[in-house]
Amino acid sequence: TYVVIENCISCKYTDCVEVCPVDCFYEGENMLVIHPDECIDCGVCEPECPADAIRPDTEPAMEKWVEFNRKYSEAW
Ligand code: SF4
Repeated sequence: TYVVIENCISCKYTDCVEVCPVDCFYEGENMLVIHPDECIDCGVCEPECPADAIRPDTEPAMEKWVEFNRKYSEAW
């Protein structure tokens, strides 16, 4: 899955939301999040992000961000 990290905070672009084929972006308190179970790992959103805030969960130390993304996407 891909996750959104803190670089997203105060980014006003929603290019990522528009390109996601499964609409798995949700609004958190001050940033967007990706539902980790709905993301199909296509990677299309990653290059669209001007803030470099979308990362694969295979990067180091992403566990807390996966949980953060899950928490705020399931609040909907
Ligand atoms: Fe959506 Fe693909 Fe990005 Fe996952 S990797 S959030 S499915 S665009």
